Amino acid sequence: MIQLESITECTNTYARVCNAIINNYEFQTPQFMPVGTKATVKTLDSSDLDELNFPIILANTYHLYLRPGSKRIYEAGGLKKFMSYSGLFLTDSGGFQVYSLKHLRKIKEDGVEFRSIIDGSKHFFSPTSVINTQRELGADIMMAFDECPPGDCDWNYAKDSMEKTHRWANQCLEAKANTQNIALGPQNLFGIIQGGIFDDLRLKSQEIIQSMEFDGYAVGGLSVGESQKDKKRVLKLLAPGYREDKLRYLMGVGTPQDLMLGVENGIDLFDCVMPTRVARHGKLYTSQGAINIKNAKFRNMDNPVDSNCDCKLCSRYSASYLHHLMREDEWTGFRLASLHNLEFFQKFMQEMRFSIKTGNFLDFLKYWRNIYPT
Ligand SMILES: [Zn+2]
Repeated sequence: MIQLESITECTNTYARVCNAIINNYEFQTPQFMPVGTKATVKTLDSSDLDELNFPIILANTYHLYLRPGSKRIYEAGGLKKFMSYSGLFLTDSGGFQVYSLKHLRKIKEDGVEFRSIIDGSKHFFSPTSVINTQRELGADIMMAFDECPPGDCDWNYAKDSMEKTHRWANQCLEAKANTQNIALGPQNLFGIIQGGIFDDLRLKSQEIIQSMEFDGYAVGGLSVGESQKDKKRVLKLLAPGYREDKLRYLMGVGTPQDLMLGVENGIDLFDCVMPTRVARHGKLYTSQGAINIKNAKFRNMDNPVDSNCDCKLCSRYSASYLHHLMREDEWTGFRLASLHNLEFFQKFMQEMRFSIKTGNFLDFLKYWRNIYPT
């Protein structure tokens, strides 16, 4: 059960600010969700996450199913107890990882057979099995099992895959209805709109998925290799047709540019590994644009990376120090850079919400698109 109340709608775009309550946890959207693939946001621990204060963390079903196993996490009391973290968890269905391992899987009518990347052992994911697994993980938001086709697939492939996703969506709802909540509160289930880059399929999928009673709706299959132009067109196409009463989540998308694009087209939730992944390679998002801290020009810079940022990195250390740590591949550097990028995303979304509430969203877009051009 998700209580959702739209508190401000932008008069110029489809952007909105909502109050959401999920399992007694209250927050406002639009929100970014950091990715904790294997029950950790890489290089950070749960005290860091407490301080960053994101309402929802995403964890990956595929990895946790293989190791340590969803049973182990269930016995430990679910992800929240296992990680000692009290925020909300969203788990994906595991499908996306399975599809990306092309040579290790076989897609069938009733699910996907795949081999483990760890030991080659054989496994099978079906709509019913992934709901059970996400129940065991204790997710507050579970995702339906879908087929995510490659960004360059043709219309026929996208159509077949979309229809399979719709059949599986029904089976996931049935599986949810036939199983008990085993987390502390209700475990919500989101349906996923597919259809590749094809307008007719996308609209069809939006209509069919939204006619099923999910607790929220996601847009899948974007940022999977399609062009930026196609992504933009699909998001604009879907914007007028979302249900007002449910959350809308754009899966796997999260550059500052894409967050702006998503929000102006009515999206409430985002997730992406990007801010932490690029941080480990030295890319930092700042109020002046993105930088590469390994660049020689930071060698002697005794100022902070971003003087407008009050994260653990910027409030204490110089750009020169981080430059040195990153050049030496020191773990502390990876950690400080990850903390900084997540703090940047947190503040960016906070400012975006504020601009929508105060009627200044267009100014926000103009200002930030100048710094982060598409
Ligand atoms: Zn910072």
